[in-house]
Amino acid sequence: MTAGGRAAPSREDLDQSGSLTLRLVDAAGMAAFFGLMALLAVEVDAGLEVFAEHAWWLISFAAIGGYLWADFVSGFFHFLADTYGSVHTPFLGPVFFRTFREHHVDPLAITRHGFLEVNGANCIVSLPFLALTVGLVPIRESLFGAALGAFMFAFLVGIFFTNQFHRWAHLPSPPQWIRRLQSTGLILGVDHHQRHHVAPYDTYYCITSGLMNPVLARLRFFESIKAPLGRLVEPIVGKAEDIFVEAPAEALPADDSLREQGSSRW
Ligand SMILES: [Zn+2]
Ligand SMILES: [Zn+2]
Repeated sequence: MTAGGRAAPSREDLDQSGSLTLRLVDAAGMAAFFGLMALLAVEVDAGLEVFAEHAWWLISFAAIGGYLWADFVSGFFHFLADTYGSVHTPFLGPVFFRTFREHHVDPLAITRHGFLEVNGANCIVSLPFLALTVGLVPIRESLFGAALGAFMFAFLVGIFFTNQFHRWAHLPSPPQWIRRLQSTGLILGVDHHQRHHVAPYDTYYCITSGLMNPVLARLRFFESIKAPLGRLVEPIVGKAEDIFVEAPAEALPADDSLREQGSSRW
């Protein structure tokens, strides 16, 4: 339960919900994200008009490719943050690794977090990519630019909704319309995501739609990159605290069929 001789942080240490500073940073990041996404939407709309004869495949490529890429990226960053890095590492520890450690100590914490706390971080990490796309990609001037602009728009919409979909997958009694959306398989499903919260907690990291999870599990993608990547990043970010715990029984969904599977499944 220790990393580098230091005590693993408690649930209270990991909870930063009361921080006004962090919520102001989230709000500023979200405002900048929405502003730049509106600019990107205007550019993509203009690009689709210029390349109107290619509009259908551009939209299909962007929507399907961008959304699946968002799922993969959500899984890759989730894998990095679950697998490496100590909460005691300067800056990255409290800002980045803390939230992932908290999620495995207290999976229901995300259901108590407000909209800003759930979605602010993904807005902030998206800003450099969004600014580069808006500033540098020739969306109206070239077909490649239009395709890349539309792809990035769909990708960043997926990234924006990732933590919201993840939160919904942990709601003990979600509204019916969320259950219906989850049952389509287009957003992260409850029983699908449970596979990540079962020991040894090393699979099904993707949390936008989860569509990439079976593919990556079959390829043993995360297993094969874990050791070589660890040798590169652990000297910089430290070793992750071993604080993964089985979620308490109250974290089980209200659905009786899922409840019967026992607390070890959640
Ligand atoms: Zn995790
Ligand atoms: Zn989760």
